[in-house]
Amino acid sequence: MAESAHPTRIDPIGDELAIVWSDGRETYFKLEALRRACPCAACRGEPDVLGHVERPLVSYKPESFVLRAVHVTGGYAVQPVWKDGHDSGLYTFDYLRRL
Ligand SMILES: [Zn+2]
Repeated sequence: MAESAHPTRIDPIGDELAIVWSDGRETYFKLEALRRACPCAACRGEPDVLGHVERPLVSYKPESFVLRAVHVTGGYAVQPVWKDGHDSGLYTFDYLRRL
């Protein structure tokens, strides 16, 4: 089985985040779309005991779509730090490749 690709370069360019992957593929994410796809519980909601997920109402500000920093965490996920202070979203490499 092939090793799954990991980012070799992560560069914020204007209002996009460019990621170069170890297999040579390049992907570009609009920062606004990336933030709206934030997979964390506060943005996505957590399932209750019955498995229902109620999507929380998330309000965004202009700073919500501006990056302060990007970390690679644990060798499996990209963690953007947004200018509004939100940093709990862990975007796994697989998730990013499917966005
Ligand atoms: Zn989030």
